[in-house]
Amino acid sequence: MVLVRRTMAGLLRLPGPTVATKAHRINQLTQGVRKGVGSRQDEHRHENLSGSVENILNPAASASRSSSRGSVQYIGQRQYSTRSSGTKAGAPEYSHVIVGAGSAGCVLANRLSENPDNTVFLMEAGPKDHTWTIHMPSAMRYNLAGDKYNWCYHTAPQKHMDDREMYWPRGRVWGGSSSLNAMVYVRGHAMDYDRWEREGAVGWSYADCLPYFRKAQTHELGPDDYRGGEGPLHVCRGKSNNPLNRAFIEAGQQAGYPYTDDMNGYQQEGFGEMDMNIRKGVRWSTANAYLRPALKRGNVRAEVRCVATRILFEGNRAVGLEYLQNGETKQVRAAREVILSGGSINSPQMLMLSGIGDADDLRKLGIPVVQHLPGVGQNLQDHLEAHVQQACTQPVTLYSALSPHRMLMIGVRWFATRTGLGATSHMEAGGFIRSRPGVEHPDVQYHFLPSTINDHGRVAGKQHAYQVHVGPMRPTSRGYLKLRSADPHAHPLLNPNYLSTPQDVLEMRLSIKHTREIFAQKAFDPFRGAEIGPGHSIQSDKDIDAYVRQHSESGYHSSCTCKMGAESDSMAVVDAETRVLGVENLRVVDASIMPSIVSGNLNAPTIMLSEKAADIIKGEPPLPKSTAPVYQPETLDAQR
Ligand SMILES: Cc1cc2nc3c(=O)[nH]c(=O)nc-3n(C[C@H](O)[C@H](O)[C@H](O)COP(=O)(O)OP(=O)(O)OC[C@H]3O[C@@H](n4cnc5c(N)ncnc54)[C@H](O)[C@@H]3O)c2cc1C
Repeated sequence: MVLVRRTMAGLLRLPGPTVATKAHRINQLTQGVRKGVGSRQDEHRHENLSGSVENILNPAASASRSSSRGSVQYIGQRQYSTRSSGTKAGAPEYSHVIVGAGSAGCVLANRLSENPDNTVFLMEAGPKDHTWTIHMPSAMRYNLAGDKYNWCYHTAPQKHMDDREMYWPRGRVWGGSSSLNAMVYVRGHAMDYDRWEREGAVGWSYADCLPYFRKAQTHELGPDDYRGGEGPLHVCRGKSNNPLNRAFIEAGQQAGYPYTDDMNGYQQEGFGEMDMNIRKGVRWSTANAYLRPALKRGNVRAEVRCVATRILFEGNRAVGLEYLQNGETKQVRAAREVILSGGSINSPQMLMLSGIGDADDLRKLGIPVVQHLPGVGQNLQDHLEAHVQQACTQPVTLYSALSPHRMLMIGVRWFATRTGLGATSHMEAGGFIRSRPGVEHPDVQYHFLPSTINDHGRVAGKQHAYQVHVGPMRPTSRGYLKLRSADPHAHPLLNPNYLSTPQDVLEMRLSIKHTREIFAQKAFDPFRGAEIGPGHSIQSDKDIDAYVRQHSESGYHSSCTCKMGAESDSMAVVDAETRVLGVENLRVVDASIMPSIVSGNLNAPTIMLSEKAADIIKGEPPLPKSTAPVYQPETLDAQR
C-alpha cells in the first residue's frame, strides 16, 4: 500500500523542492557529493520500493590534488607541461576509462566493449537507476523536483533575464540526463550538421551523421532511409490519442504550415506527431539501451558514486583518473585512453581542474597548467523556452489525471502492463517553423502538452489547460562556464548569457506571436478558454519581451563548451576525432563537443555523436555517407 501511495504521489503531482532556500540546497548537494553523492540508505529504500530494475524492464516478471609542479613549454599557440601527476603504484588498469554513465558514456561503454580486447572502466558520480520514478515515463517531473538523481545546477544571475538565477537540472545517475529528460526524440535539421562541418568538424556533415542516427535506432515504424531498424535505442510514436494533440497538429496546418509525417526524416519543417525514447511503456534511457547489454559482456566495470576529481598526466599524456568513492581517494589507469563524457558542465570543469583551459584563469586558482586551451568552458549555448498556456473548456487535459482515484488507476495499470497514461511523457505533438522570411530552415520549435507545467513541474496545474513550450533553436547568445575554485565539488559558475543579442529577443517575441496565431485556429474552437500566459493584457512588443524575461526557462540543452574544431581555431577544444588538442590519450565525447547547438533536442544528437566517436576510437572506417534527400521550402521569401 505504501508502494501504491508513493507511486501515485510521484505520478503526475509532484512535491516541491524539499529545501527552503537555493543556497541551502546547493550546500546540501555539495555535502552529498563529498559523501559520495546521496546516501546508500536512500538508494536501498528506493530499491525496496520498486523491486529490481529488471522487473521494471520486464512487465511479465513484475508482479588531494597532487601538488607536484613541473615546467611549462609553449609549442605554437599551445602550452605544454612536463609535470608528472603523481600516480599511485598498483592502481587498476583498463584499456579505456570513461567519466560519466550518461547519454554519451553508456554508448561508448557498449560500443568499445564490443571488442573483447578492450576493457572499460565507467565511473558515474550518481547511483544506479533503481527507481520506478525514472522508468515510468509520466513520472519524470519527480526527479526534476528532487535532488537524488539530479545535479540541480543554477546559472549566475542573468543580466537580460531580470537577473534571475535559472534552474538547470542535469542527470546524476546511470543514464545521466537521458534518465531525467522528457524522452522527446528529435535529431535536429540536416543543415545543422552541414554547418558543423563548415565550423571545422570535418567528417560531421549530415551525410556523415545520418548513418549513425540510423545505426543507433530501432524505430517502431520500421527502417527506411532515415530511420534505423536494428539499433539499441528504441523509439516510438505517441499513443495517448489526446484530442488536444490532434487539435494542435491541425491548427498548425490551418495556420498555413505543412504537415510532416516524420520530423526526423525527410522533412523537419511542419507540425506532426513526435517520436519518444520509450520502449514498451518504459523510458529507454541509454542505461537501458546501451549499458545493461554491455554489462553482460564481462569486460565493462561500471562503478557508481564515483566522483572523478582530476585527470592524471605523465608529461602531456593522460594516463588515468583520480576519483573519490565512499570518502576514499582512488586512482584508475588507462592503458589507451581517458574519455570525458561528464556532459556539457562537467567535461570542461574536469579539464580545467586538471590544468587544461585558459592558462591565466587556471593560475589564478593555483591549478598547474598542462595545456593552455582558452576555449574550454566558452561557447556555452542553450535553448531558451517560453510557455504559452491556454485554459481548456473541456475536461480532456491531464488535469483529470490528478485526482487520487485516477492516479491510482494509472499507476496500477502501468505497473501491471506498462500501458496507459503512465507510459508516455505526453510530449506527443510538436512542430518546427521558420520565424520569418529569409530563414533557411526552421529556427523555432514547438512541444505541445495537453496539460500545463509550472516551475519545472514543481508547481501543480490548477485547472484544465494546455500549453506549448516554444523558443528559438539557433540562439546567437554565447555564454561561458568558469571554475569558482579548485575544489572539484564546487559547482562552476554558469553564465549562458541568455537574450544578450537583439536577434534572440526578436525570435522569442516572434515565437509567442506565431503561437497565439496557431492557438486562434478553428481546430481549437471546441477547447479554447482564456489565455493564461502571457495573458491577454500582454500585447505590445515591450510587454511580450518583459514576459519572456520574467518567465522563460532553460530548455535543458546546455552544450558546446568543449567545441570540436580545426586546430587553427584558437577556441577549439577537441579535433574532429574528439581528441583534446595538445595532449595525448584524452578525448571528450558528449554534448559539450558540439560546435554549435542543433535545431532540436540534444539527446539523439549526443547519442549519434557517441556512436560515431566510438568507431573513430576503435579505428573502424566510418559508415558510408547517406545520400538521402532533404526537404527544402518552396520559397524563403515568405515565412510559411
Ligand atoms: C530535464 C531535462 C529534460 C530534457 N529533455 C530532453 C528531451 O526530451 N529530449 C532530448 O533529446 N534531450 C533532452 N534533454 C537534453 C539531453 O538529455 C542531454 O542533452 C543529453 O542527455 C546530454 O548527454 P551527455 O552525455 O552530454 O550528458 P549527461 O547525459 O548529463 O551525462 C553526464 C554524466 O556524467 C556524470 N558525471 C558528471 N560529472 C562527473 C564526475 N565528476 N564523475 C563521475 N561522473 C560524472 C553525470 O552524473 C551524468 O550521469 C533534457 C535534459 C534535461 C536535464
